[in-house]
Parts: sequence; C-alpha cells; structure tokens
Amino acid sequence: MEIKKVIPSGFCIGVIEAIKKVKELRKDEPNAKIYILGHLVHNEYISDALSKMDIITLDDKDKSKEELIEMIDDGIIVFSAHGISDDLYKKAKEKGLRILDATCPFVYKTQCLIKDRLKEGYEVLYIGKDKHPEAMAVLSISPHIHLIEDKSSLNDLQDYSKVFITNQTTMSITEIEQLVNIIKERYPKAVFSDEICSATRMRQEAIYKITDADVLYVVGDPTSNNSNKLKEIAKSRGIKKVYLIRSAQDIDIQDLKDVSVIYVTSGASTPNYLRDQVIEVLKEYDKKGTFKVPEIILSKLI
Ligand code: SF4
Repeated sequence: MEIKKVIPSGFCIGVIEAIKKVKELRKDEPNAKIYILGHLVHNEYISDALSKMDIITLDDKDKSKEELIEMIDDGIIVFSAHGISDDLYKKAKEKGLRILDATCPFVYKTQCLIKDRLKEGYEVLYIGKDKHPEAMAVLSISPHIHLIEDKSSLNDLQDYSKVFITNQTTMSITEIEQLVNIIKERYPKAVFSDEICSATRMRQEAIYKITDADVLYVVGDPTSNNSNKLKEIAKSRGIKKVYLIRSAQDIDIQDLKDVSVIYVTSGASTPNYLRDQVIEVLKEYDKKGTFKVPEIILSKLI
C-alpha cells in the first residue's frame, strides 16, 4: 500500500495561537480558575488535554452561553477561536471576570468587515452553519444579518436594495461559489467578500489535487466544520472511500481490503500528532499485517 500525507493538513495558525495563549495563561496564573466558553477549538482531545492542565471547558447543550457565564463567579474566562458576541463579552466584564480572547484574527476580521457594511446600510447575507459558534457570534451582531445555509434560506428574505454577501471562514470553496451564484440571481447587484480563511482554502485545494486515492482518511472531530468540509469535498471529487475519524483508534481494518493508495489529511483543529499517528499505524499494518489500536498520549497533543 502507498500511504500519503496530504500537504498542507492539520493545525492552522489560528488554532496554534489560541492554544499557545491558553497554555501561557496557565503558566502565568498557576493557581487561577480558568474556564473556556465552549470548546477552544473543535476537538475533544484538545479539550481533554486542557482539562489535564485544570482548564475547564464549559459546554452543555442544554445551556446557552449566557447561562454558562452566569455559572462562574470568579476566575478567568477564555473566549474560543470561533469568536464571541459583543453581548457575551459585556456580560463577562459585568460579572467581573478576567477575559482572555482567543478569537482567530481571520474570524475577527470578518466580524469587523460585517460591522462596516452594516454601517453603510447593507443587509448582510452570511453563508454559514446554523448553531456553529462562529456563525452565532456573527448573527448576534445585528438583525440585519441573515444566515444562509442553502438556497431555501432565501425564501424568507425580502427584496433589499443593498446586499452584502459573506461567509463563515471554514466553508467549502465549491459550496460558497454555488450559493453566491444563486444569491446573485436574486440580488444581481449584491457585493461579495469571500472570507474563507487561507488555512481552510489550502487544505481544501490539496484535496482537489488528489487523483489516485482509493481511501482518504480525514482526521478530525465530528463537530469540526472544516474537517467535515474536507470529507464532503473528497466525496464530491469521486473518492469512493472517505472516512472522518477522530484518531487512529477509529480505523476499521476491513476498510483497507483491496486498497492500494491511501491519503491522510486532517482538519485545522486536529493535532498533527493524531494525523501522524494514523499514518504510522497504517504503515505498520502495511509492513507487518498487524493492527494495534494505539494509545493517545494527551500531553503530546498540544
Ligand atoms: S480555520 Fe481559519 S479561521 Fe479557523 S482558526 Fe484556523 S485560521 Fe482561524
């Protein structure tokens, strides 16, 4: 079998910086209570590794972020790489919490751009994923921002004179292109700014270049939008066997029957250690014909 690493893949600069900030915070404040509002980045293993450093991820599907902030009385609250709404930022301040904002600069740039267009009187059509924290932070800015998930989202919209189209940073290149074309049929004068970040774009473009894969593993968390988009793009390119796996522990050896060429990629929020472990396990299987489910050492992740 040929086992190939997709380049680029794995951690992006926004994720690296967010993790670095939180680790430095723990070093500077060894005794402080540190909470992250939601997952710092979309990867359960990273949240587990942070929890080993006594950094608590506040995540409860039955509670809003506002309610989660309400539960904390003191300490430091970290806002994740996906960005935060102005209201939640204000609420944390009012509670007297210290704040570390780990918002990725690309996400922040999109938020600023949207605010500028709103001031100019534009109605904003934001292509993104419902309930994703990045999209939720953006939608909270103004009622003049409308989430576009697919073409049916246009049904409820009115005929606006000034329309600005933009998007969540981790969407797929193809999806955005198709949706923008559909939106422009309805609003021909709409102005578009493509906000897919460079890390997302380059990881997707690398998939487009693959022509000989029998199998593609995308190592990433099921909640990671950019990992899911890598999977979708690979499928749309005709790669028949595409698997989103959290780690080498999810590999099903039955999937490797009659396979010659395997590619391994990983989302921007996936530790490179997990991607490289998948490659190692596959190489070992190819060489010796044995498959050993590996242990994941959390301290090596971040
Ligand atoms: S995927 Fe892009 S927007 Fe998200 S954290 Fe990484 S660099 Fe920032």
